[in-house]
Amino acid sequence: MLRFAFTSTTLIGGLSLAAACGGPQLARRDPVPLVPSVAIVGATLWDGTGRGQVPNAVTVVRGDRVVCAGSAGECPVPASARVIDAKGQYLIPGLIDSHVHLLFMVDGSTAEDMALDLRELLAQGVTTVRDMGTNPAVLLPRARALQAAPRVVAMQLVAGRRFFFNGFQAVATARGTIIRQPPAMAMQQLGWTPIMFTPADNPEQVVAQAREAGAMGLKLYAQLDSMSVRRLTEAAHRAGMPVWGHAWVQPASVKEQTTAGMDGVVHAAGLAGELFTVEDRDTLVRDGDLQIATARRATPEAAHDPAVLAALDTMVAHGAMFEPTLDAVRKSVASYDSRLRHIPSIQEDYARAAAGFGLEVTREAVRRGVRISAGSDHVAYGPVRDRASLFGELKLLVDSISLTPAAALLAATRDAARAIGGDVGRQIGTIEVGHYADLVLLTRNPLESVDNLDSVEMVMVGGKVWRPGQLRSGIAMR
Ligand SMILES: [Zn+2]
Repeated sequence: MLRFAFTSTTLIGGLSLAAACGGPQLARRDPVPLVPSVAIVGATLWDGTGRGQVPNAVTVVRGDRVVCAGSAGECPVPASARVIDAKGQYLIPGLIDSHVHLLFMVDGSTAEDMALDLRELLAQGVTTVRDMGTNPAVLLPRARALQAAPRVVAMQLVAGRRFFFNGFQAVATARGTIIRQPPAMAMQQLGWTPIMFTPADNPEQVVAQAREAGAMGLKLYAQLDSMSVRRLTEAAHRAGMPVWGHAWVQPASVKEQTTAGMDGVVHAAGLAGELFTVEDRDTLVRDGDLQIATARRATPEAAHDPAVLAALDTMVAHGAMFEPTLDAVRKSVASYDSRLRHIPSIQEDYARAAAGFGLEVTREAVRRGVRISAGSDHVAYGPVRDRASLFGELKLLVDSISLTPAAALLAATRDAARAIGGDVGRQIGTIEVGHYADLVLLTRNPLESVDNLDSVEMVMVGGKVWRPGQLRSGIAMR
């Protein structure tokens, strides 16, 4: 669906050019366009480009593209257009969640879950999601086959040898001995397909494999040294693919990832990696060890440690972006809070430390000028109330990090598009001529409060109109 995007732009461009110049002198009626237009008339437009709200705006869509967006004077309503009366309402670019995980194949497949989840995201005004690593070759055809879904792009997971061969480990817990397995194995049981990369491997092959799976970029997950990060990043960039990854990938630190040219890092809590020595970073191999060490070191005060600040400044200098994923951590702390009686676990200690440290790191990042993308780490799996959401992430960015609603919205539109990058990223995120017609119409002003994002009246993806009621009717969300 994405591949053919340029065809319709070219066609539209050709048609309007023919009408504008070199036509015959005789008065004649313009031919009815092959593709009918839709005009959204009367809304207050916030186009995400940085310009202020435009009252009483006209936004014209033809096919899957925006052909005009501005004041009534700037954008005449085409005579043949279907008019959507949006007086008193607010039009914004479709929201982008740049960090989700959609495919969980437990006991076969959860395809139905994914379809319901994507419908619900669409009803919330989310028109593009970036899957941060599951199984692009299975995910993308399934997502494209769905009628009502945001556009879906996917990244390819890559990890180092230890992620695959960390060895089985017997761990004594309060509930008896449990057997740990290499993290890659747990991931593969979900149907995910991480690619292994070792220093002896050719990064071009990883890039070719990722491309064949349909991925648009690489997500570096764990157990990669700084030289591996650099080689993978350079190979991906040569192929025009962005590279994102966990904030520190054991042993490579955020500072090393950033100087290697990576486009962005995810999870604010991962900046705790900067607090460890090079030797420590190389020995913190197992998830449990990493979580214990992080829980100890990652205090809110540690977010101001010179090593953390240096990593953030390096990100600014290199233009690397940041997805704090605050809502996912908040949700996991809330879930521990809601358990009346439980044995505190390593994971709980880690979640609580990650919450405090992550908020403070994000405040520092914003203060120092790191560009934020509001990816949420939403998963299309498990109890709905436990799933992180873009709405929750934006609320935290405003309420806890003190972004203005407009700045938070940019992190979920223009800047999230930049985070996604590639061909798709250049055509979404703002309401501009030639961009995909991905729009959200709200009944309340989101610039007054991000809470008003829950007033979705209509969602348009690539020119196709959806109403939340229609999307949610018949959906029995668990
Ligand atoms: Zn994630």
